Amino acid sequence: MIELSGVTRVYPSQSETEAQGPIALSAASLRIDVGEFVCVTGPSGSGKTTLLNILGCLDQPTAGKYCIAGQDSTTFGVDELAQLRRETFGFVFQQYNLIDSMTVRENAELPAVYAGLPRRLRYSRVRDALSFVGLGDRHEHRPAQLSGGEQQRVAIARALINGARVILADEPTGSLDTEQGEDVLRLLEQLSIRGRTVIVISHDPAVARRTHRRVKLRDGRVVDDSGRSPVPTREFEIPEGSVARITWLVSWVAALRVGVASLRGRHFGAVLTVCSIALGIWSAVTLLALLEGARQDAVTTLERMGANRLSVAFKKGVPRLIRGFDGPVFEMRRLTLKLDDARAIAEQVANVGSVVPSRREYLPARVGERIAQVLVSARDDTEPRSSYQNLLWPIALGEYITQHDSDTAALVAVIGPRTRDSLFDPTVDPLGQYIEVNGLQFVVKGVLTAPPDHIRYERNMPKVRGGALIGPPQGDQSLPLQVHIPFSTGMELLFQTDELTELDVLVEDVSRIDETAGDIGDTMVRRHGLGRYEVYNEAQILLAHKKLSGIYATILGTLGGIALFVGGAGIMSAELASVNQRRREIGIRMAVGARRTDISKQFLVETAVLTTVGGTCGTILAIAGNPILSHLTSMPVGFSPWFVPLALGFSVVIGLIFGIAPAQRASRLDPVVTLASV
Ligand code: ADP
Ligand code: MG
Repeated sequence: MIELSGVTRVYPSQSETEAQGPIALSAASLRIDVGEFVCVTGPSGSGKTTLLNILGCLDQPTAGKYCIAGQDSTTFGVDELAQLRRETFGFVFQQYNLIDSMTVRENAELPAVYAGLPRRLRYSRVRDALSFVGLGDRHEHRPAQLSGGEQQRVAIARALINGARVILADEPTGSLDTEQGEDVLRLLEQLSIRGRTVIVISHDPAVARRTHRRVKLRDGRVVDDSGRSPVPTREFEIPEGSVARITWLVSWVAALRVGVASLRGRHFGAVLTVCSIALGIWSAVTLLALLEGARQDAVTTLERMGANRLSVAFKKGVPRLIRGFDGPVFEMRRLTLKLDDARAIAEQVANVGSVVPSRREYLPARVGERIAQVLVSARDDTEPRSSYQNLLWPIALGEYITQHDSDTAALVAVIGPRTRDSLFDPTVDPLGQYIEVNGLQFVVKGVLTAPPDHIRYERNMPKVRGGALIGPPQGDQSLPLQVHIPFSTGMELLFQTDELTELDVLVEDVSRIDETAGDIGDTMVRRHGLGRYEVYNEAQILLAHKKLSGIYATILGTLGGIALFVGGAGIMSAELASVNQRRREIGIRMAVGARRTDISKQFLVETAVLTTVGGTCGTILAIAGNPILSHLTSMPVGFSPWFVPLALGFSVVIGLIFGIAPAQRASRLDPVVTLASV
């Protein structure tokens, strides 16, 4: 049933001078039948371990043929060999080869995990196997908490978990005292009695006496064989498909379980890895927050400066084509803005948030003996904005016009600082005083602050007409004396007209403001015919803003990318080191039947878990550090909720990308070499 014929195994040369390395087996032939209990003896270095590794499909012959149930082992692929190790052969090593970071139960069930057995089946098999070896009460112990004999019994339970037909034991009692060795030997004997094929390597004459057949090796050759024992021969088959083909999902779930379980064993390395990715993500998120802060800051500044607003006004005279007696003539016709226009723009033009109508007129105002020409403006708005460019102009004294004032057409006024200087004595409190305009007495209820610097600056900015830049604004270059009154008061009592001078349009999406300006122009043309309307906005600021945030994004994006790359490279080197450190563990996993993909998936999952934890820590650090950062740098720090999924997604992706190389390396390790290197 298993048969070696002329098997030679030559190890690769270790030095330059020798063409070939040691010959561990030279043309060894051996046939073992189902149910035999064989002891392999021979001096150290005679090739016993090599023989057993080849029998268990852990190693392949350099020359010769190894047949299992009549099939040539060289025709099997790596995954089929792994399946044979997992389901047909059970290894027991001299050094027990348990994984220290896993419990007794986890060690014993490992081959069943790789076989894709469901949890309930695994548990019942582990229970049976552990009670068979007399360790039914040690499920949750760690290997280090057990004696050598007990560890070796766990290894036997592991060998049995998938119902192995052939048990291969390499000096299983070599590291044990007589009593514990006897326990292990008794277990092997029982397995043989129950019909399993047991092949045990041993120097111990006591072992040799118990077995049915003795094979002696020297210099890689079978030099003595007591002959096949008279055991009833049973049919032996490779249990094909005895375990359901493992699905994609099951294999990843298994990898996740294995990966997370093995992370427990690598405290320091794992902490370092988590720290490196946490630092990377922390700096990337912080840079992102700075970028977002700068963006938000720019937007609020722009909104404060009126960049999200458009003003609509008519030029004073409009030429109109009329039909005279002697043919066509032009007539200068005054076009007027009315509330209907405000309504039409609000209802018909896309991207328009609200429309504020206003009227302003230069009129003489009087307080006692003092008289001044003031610009009286009535805006249907409760925000203190300058009547020039809709710029926010905070209040210095008292309060601004309220909705109530407008609803009741109250005779109240809010004055600018220069109006106050012109009409009032500096020692007098203007609040509650009266200003007479056109025979009406207005009570002063508030005073605006001095105009911000940027108002004076912006007055010389080019403006937009229908989307195109035109020259600087015409008219009075010095700031007029401001008097703000409620809209209804102005229209009904003071000006007594329904003609407006300007509409202020608040747009919703600033980036589409030019388009909206064009649409408003078209609407006005539709309503009034060809006219000289003006739609303007502080376009330059907008352009400057776009350029600025572009530069910011480039710089910070580059820095963030570098930070992530450094974090990823850190992960990769930590994982490569971890693969090196855990060569033995990888060898054990392969020996019990892990496929190459199981190993690479495990390492990928480990890296991804580490980077996710690191990413979470980094994100939390960044969120917690934002207030401190903004305090220290006095830079605006913005934070958006979408940073969190972004950062986590990034860390997982980085973990996967930079985890590929270590995972590949781990899956390409040779189990024979890694197990021998202990
Ligand atoms: P035994 O188990 O009987 O002591 P082994 O099968 O371990 O013998 O080794 C047989 C020969 O092969 C020895 O000379 C040993 O040095 C050599 N050998 C074993 N494993 C390797 C290896 N991985 N690389 C190179 N030589 C090896
Ligand atoms: Mg050996």
